[in-house]
Amino acid sequence: MFANEWQARKDICEVGRRLYDKGFAAANDGNISVRLAPDRILCTPTGVSKGFLKPDDLGIVDLEGKQISGTKKRTSEILLHLSVYKARPDIGGVLHCHPPHATAFAMVHETIPKCVLPEVEVFLGEVPIARYETPGTQIFADTVLPYVHNCNTMLLANHGSVAFSQNIMTAYFNTEIIDAYCRMLILAKQLGPVQYLNEKQVGELLQFKKRLGIDDPRLHMEDCDLCGNSLFREGYDAFTTKSAAFVPPQTENSCAGKPGAKKETETASSDDMEALVQTITAQVLAALGQK
Ligand SMILES: [Zn+2]
Repeated sequence: MFANEWQARKDICEVGRRLYDKGFAAANDGNISVRLAPDRILCTPTGVSKGFLKPDDLGIVDLEGKQISGTKKRTSEILLHLSVYKARPDIGGVLHCHPPHATAFAMVHETIPKCVLPEVEVFLGEVPIARYETPGTQIFADTVLPYVHNCNTMLLANHGSVAFSQNIMTAYFNTEIIDAYCRMLILAKQLGPVQYLNEKQVGELLQFKKRLGIDDPRLHMEDCDLCGNSLFREGYDAFTTKSAAFVPPQTENSCAGKPGAKKETETASSDDMEALVQTITAQVLAALGQK
């Protein structure tokens, strides 16, 4: 699963160029990293514009943030990336930046509405907003921990976004999706009230998502309204956002925000993986036996 180092260097430069061109990272904002080995992270340097990165500008750190190689000092936000990598061994790339439309929601503490746009349901799922702390600190890096197991993209209050995936290109595309979505929401709001998809329509999207092999905590919640509920409400963190500009549909089965929701998801996904491994192993053994 680990990236080839030369390819990873090229990918980071390409992602940097795109997010700078998109206006997601003004001046020297934003930082990008790729995992090369369980405890080796290739990352962008501090004080360099992401639009003009060269492969040799990048450095390698260990999981404690100690710089192993590179002539330029590592990003000051490396602790944020390391929080994600330590919590999620499956993650191969992390991207933090300040996409303006998504960050606008994070500045107002407005909950990102669900059940509006199919691409958001399938590729992102629910996007939480983590509480504000001073950037660059360990306390700031820890703000992602309540949510990191149950999402692939989150917003950081009064700051920006962080996306993470098996590879850095997917994290970049998910950043594009959240900013495009927030831009559309702001435009739509000026025309009239946003219309929500119904439970059946969202249920179909979640089944499509399941077939694509993308997990969603909502696939493991029983008897919960998919659209009215937020997984990341009470019980996740002391900080909560509000739904003032975009009011979700009324819900009958309010069972969201259970503190146990995270554990249920983890158990379910590891059970699923175990079942998958057993099925594949059985098929391989059967195929070998036939020869
Ligand atoms: Zn930032």
